[in-house]
Amino acid sequence: LVAFRDVRKSFGAFEVLKGIDLDIAPGEVVALIGRSGSGKSTALRCVNGLEKINGGTLTVCGRHLHESGTDLRDLRKDVGIVFQSYNLFPHLTVEQNVTLAPRKVHRISAADARTLAADVLAQVGLSDKAGNYPEQLSGGQQQRVAIARSLAMRPKLMLFDEVTSALDPELTGEVLRTIERLAASGMTMVLVTHEMSFASSVADKIVFMHQGRVWETGDGRMLSAPQTAELQQFVGNGL
Ligand code: ATP
Ligand code: MG
Repeated sequence: LVAFRDVRKSFGAFEVLKGIDLDIAPGEVVALIGRSGSGKSTALRCVNGLEKINGGTLTVCGRHLHESGTDLRDLRKDVGIVFQSYNLFPHLTVEQNVTLAPRKVHRISAADARTLAADVLAQVGLSDKAGNYPEQLSGGQQQRVAIARSLAMRPKLMLFDEVTSALDPELTGEVLRTIERLAASGMTMVLVTHEMSFASSVADKIVFMHQGRVWETGDGRMLSAPQTAELQQFVGNGL
């Protein structure tokens, strides 16, 4: 579904991604881990075209992002992204927040929007909050609404960038469980996370990035048996 080949990305003279190779198969859950500044968010943002790559090739859902003329609006129908900040519209209800984009982009009817909202809110465990406003919800619930909003576009791929980092520890669990359920339902996803135990339990593949490179790749066991000194140090420090 996603293929990075020697992907490079620079900001000015600073090369942030120094030749990334990475494949993501349909249904696969990939966790991106690594130190602050290692290029995790940049790599993620390249996948839905928020950053344009400077070298190599990047294919996402059949679209070649290294070629000019890729329709990014079209790409983003297939690729949902959820950030640390959830950016819900405060003056819209949960249901309206969730159905705004599909109503605009897919031009679905009000009745279909209602059904869709019920469906995706059930997926994140918030069926009873459809009529509430964001300020009436906890941070964890708001983040789950943001996830439901992405799901409402029926994406083929979901990207999560440290979605629990802004949450209090007691609210983190409910968001992680939502993501875990999504993974179990077969959704393809890439998550940047600092939750190491979560990464090793939910991800099929863990990718440790270091200084703009994929330094080490493995499954959940990788974190307990690092092959490189850099990963060893990273897991040793916790962050
Ligand atoms: P963190 O764990 O802190 O979120 P990260 O691994 O996600 O880190 P990135 O956000 O990808 O790291 O950033 C990688 C490097 O690129 C950093 O040195 C950052 O300062 C730089 N960078 C990111 N975005 C930009 C930008 N728009 N302009 C200039 N430099 C940038
Ligand atoms: Mg980041």
